[in-house]
Amino acid sequence: MDKIKILFFEDSPGDAGLIEEMIDESVYCSCQLEVVETLNEGLNYLGLNEVDLILLDLGLPDSDGMDTFNEVKSNNSNIPIIILTGLKDENIGINAVKKGAQDYLIKGEVEHKLLERSIIYSLERKRIEIELQKYHEILEEQVEERTKELANANALLKIEIDKHKKTEAQLENLLMELKRSNKELEQFAYVASHDLQEPLRMVSSFTQLLERKYKGKLDQDADDYIKFAVDGAQRMQQLINDLLAYSRVTTGGKKFEMVNMENILTESLSNLKLSVEENNATITHESLPYVRADQSQVVQLFQNLIGNAIKFRREEPPEIHISAQNSGDKWIFQVSDNGIGIDPQYVNHIFKVFQRLHGRENYPGTGIGLSICKKIVERHGGEMWVNSKLGKGSQFFFTISK
Ligand code: ADP
Repeated sequence: MDKIKILFFEDSPGDAGLIEEMIDESVYCSCQLEVVETLNEGLNYLGLNEVDLILLDLGLPDSDGMDTFNEVKSNNSNIPIIILTGLKDENIGINAVKKGAQDYLIKGEVEHKLLERSIIYSLERKRIEIELQKYHEILEEQVEERTKELANANALLKIEIDKHKKTEAQLENLLMELKRSNKELEQFAYVASHDLQEPLRMVSSFTQLLERKYKGKLDQDADDYIKFAVDGAQRMQQLINDLLAYSRVTTGGKKFEMVNMENILTESLSNLKLSVEENNATITHESLPYVRADQSQVVQLFQNLIGNAIKFRREEPPEIHISAQNSGDKWIFQVSDNGIGIDPQYVNHIFKVFQRLHGRENYPGTGIGLSICKKIVERHGGEMWVNSKLGKGSQFFFTISK
């Protein structure tokens, strides 16, 4: 084992000799002692040599008390220091231990076993202290690294969250804008159709008056012009009425209640009684469920669909069948006919306002019926569509949630 190199600050040759003798008697460690008499000499020595342990008398010719300790300690923090004090300086010894000295020994009470034990313990404590310090530094580094990682992760998370919040806010704005513009449109359609009625009634009644009073009294051209004006005014009145009915689906909707769709069908058919009889139509149906709905609107829904099924008939008498299928959280209703059918390329077209596939001469109407049906179904949270082929009849479907 290497010798333990000890630097001993001691200006009293007697004390130095005593300690030197005790060290020579050591059993468990072998030490090599270097004695310096002043602080300055010791510091110089420490600057040039490697030392394992310092034995420090605090009272030196060029320094005294804690100053001596502080001076030695400040430049050699990794070397264990054992203080040697006189009896009257015991408090200073204790104080030095608090400030980082490994031990303190009182001159006159020291004997070789005590000194040896103190040296061994001091070295060991210092070694552990340094090792602990190393672990502490490693741990601090790891904590710092982890903190950085967490800060990065936090920043990243914030960017995602921010993005999400932004999209959400944009969506909300869009939704609000949509609701607002829908309401505005609704209002506009209602006001336009409602307020247009009055001047139109004037045009219509005065052209009719003109017709009654002057028909046959002017020339043929004048009679034709008056007739066009009367027809036009009547048609416009019809269109405006239709538009008003369309906008009333939402503005004039009633609250939903449980209704028996079989009763609803019966009511629709009684409204269509004349047309059913005139066309010799056969209407059959399967059992229909109860649903939550605006009663008068579902009557109108069936009425429009069955009315169309009769109107767009072929030569043979109309055969119309109504059924409902249970489909999880909704019912799928179906109205099928054996009529003229629809060219598949127009199946979406016919649900738009005033869009129709035939001239008024062949099939009367303005093209509002299916738009109203779709709006009613959508107000009930459902969807509407049609399957059809030209000449092969049509199947109209709509859903109502349970
Ligand atoms: P209108 O009946 O006044 O024309 P609709 O909106 O009810 O208005 O219908 C739009 C168009 O859809 C009709 O003009 C017709 O061309 C087509 N259509 C609707 N129902 C049927 C049906 N059952 N069979 C064939 N075509 C239909």
